Amino acid sequence: MLEVKDLHVKVEGTEILKGLNLTIQAGEVHAIMGPNGAGKSTLSAVIAGKDGYEVTSGTITFEGQDVLEMEIEERAQAGLLLGFQYPVEIPGVKNIYLLKAALNAQREARGESEIPAPEFMKLIKEKLAFMKMDASFLQRAVNEGFSGGEKKRNEILQMLVLQPKLAMLDEIDSGLDIDAMRVVADGVNSLRANERAILMVTHYQRLLDYVVPDKVHVLVDGRIVKSGDAQLAKQLEAQGYEGIEETAA
Ligand code: ADP
Ligand code: MG
Ligand code: MG
Repeated sequence: MLEVKDLHVKVEGTEILKGLNLTIQAGEVHAIMGPNGAGKSTLSAVIAGKDGYEVTSGTITFEGQDVLEMEIEERAQAGLLLGFQYPVEIPGVKNIYLLKAALNAQREARGESEIPAPEFMKLIKEKLAFMKMDASFLQRAVNEGFSGGEKKRNEILQMLVLQPKLAMLDEIDSGLDIDAMRVVADGVNSLRANERAILMVTHYQRLLDYVVPDKVHVLVDGRIVKSGDAQLAKQLEAQGYEGIEETAA
């Protein structure tokens, strides 16, 4: 589904990704782990098409298409979605309008008509219930005054509504208490499907007890230096990244 080959990326003139390779098949859940500043967020941002990243060499293909040739909207419509691709807070724009607009943009790109209001309400209520979110949440401005946990739930809610082919979640577990993390993890698990892949960036192994990945990759200094199964995350938790970095060197 996704193939990243020898990717080199600069941010403000500094090389951050230094020859990164990653292949993800449909149906798989991959976790990217690694120390602070390794380039984890940069990787998902570049795949999603965020501004400010200069790809100096390498390729990214998604279902055979050259991702680097696609605009950010085209990527989203092709089914590549990074949680909260829009600004952290959008004052005055209600959550429900943004969700509906995003869903309708996707439908339009597929040549489908706008979702009828009752159908949308049914869909959103079902997903809200699943995420244990109150309906009042929809009337609030996007992320305005949301707690850390609410932002994360909202991010998963967006994924549940939009059903991307490749869902990218960056630190979805950060700042969550254990109950909120379970809800978020249940949301991620419900996204698992044969036709969908999930890429999770996480610092901690804890999330991976709830969302068991098929593959774990360790990103250090702009490259994936080690890959393995869920067991690798447990090993990292016990040993830290230093042993890994030594092995890589
Ligand atoms: P991680 O998510 O693994 O912690 P990031 O991808 O966020 O790492 O960042 C990798 C490196 O790139 C860091 O050294 C960071 O300071 C730098 N970086 C990321 N984004 C920017 C930016 N917009 N401007 C300048 N430096 C950046
Ligand atoms: Mg960072
Ligand atoms: Mg990061």
